Amino acid sequence: MIVIAKDENDKRTIQEDLEKRGSEYHMIKLYDNYVFMSDGGDEEKDRLYSRKFRKKSIIDVSGVRIGEGLKIAAGPCSVENEEMILDIARSVKAAGADMIRGGAFKPRTSPYSFQGLGEDGIKYLVEAKEETGLPIVTEIMNPAYYRYFDGVDMLQVGSRNAQNFDLLRFLGKQKKPVLLKNGMGNTAKEWLETAEYILSGGNGNVVLCYRGVRGIENSTRFTMNVGSIIYAKSETHLPICADPSHASGRRDFVESMALASVAAGADMLEIEVHNDPDRALSDADQQITPFDLKRIIEKARALKRELDAWDKQ
Ligand code: PEP
Ligand code: MN
Repeated sequence: MIVIAKDENDKRTIQEDLEKRGSEYHMIKLYDNYVFMSDGGDEEKDRLYSRKFRKKSIIDVSGVRIGEGLKIAAGPCSVENEEMILDIARSVKAAGADMIRGGAFKPRTSPYSFQGLGEDGIKYLVEAKEETGLPIVTEIMNPAYYRYFDGVDMLQVGSRNAQNFDLLRFLGKQKKPVLLKNGMGNTAKEWLETAEYILSGGNGNVVLCYRGVRGIENSTRFTMNVGSIIYAKSETHLPICADPSHASGRRDFVESMALASVAAGADMLEIEVHNDPDRALSDADQQITPFDLKRIIEKARALKRELDAWDKQ
């Protein structure tokens, strides 16, 4: 059961009440509220991600305010070497991106595929950030690697780890913002529940990222159900990101999927960009060039502005 205190007085009253009743409880400070979590069952209505708790959250990632306008994280699937990430970082900045993405610890389906540069990959990402001034987002697979993530601005949880509850609980104890993908076999409701693991640990800095699910359809790599974005927007105060790259698996579909996601309400896009996509060491088919990124960003931002202007009328 969750009880939320609005101020110090409220906090004292709730605390006294719980103690009088002999309830076991645990208190966290989330945003500006004190939240008491006590035994009393898994009541569906009480969720920290819910819009009943808060209307809208802006998540600040080293100065990039996600939830205001349309934010873009762009960069390669994997950091392949130092020169390549610096080159792409400069290009995505010139194209209008707000953040750099790039995988260092890579969750690959085959153990024989390129597994990422690990600690060195993060070192090169940090250099790219220092040069461009853009914050970086990269995937964490295991709490044991957290010591390498000091210079990282936002921690990504990938689809394959979306229900790694030990990882989620660990991230709930950190302060760094988290970009939380949906598990490819999860419903949208289950995706929101994964955010609850992080929020209930006391870390409110969560952005949800929809990257499609696996179903019977194979015309695209995954199935991008924009209905899940619409649903998530209606249920949660957390900003929603969409990943049209992994969802489509096809370079020529990224633009339409990006625009469809913005029309559904996405606050952010995460897009894979490579300076030589055909020769990428992972996800070559879906990575676009910086040239294409620029056009997509311009179109997506124009659409977002237009939609926001209509909503204000
Ligand atoms: C990624 O963004 O690098 C990635 C592996 O995506 P996903 O976890 O959505 O498959
Ligand atoms: Mn990828």
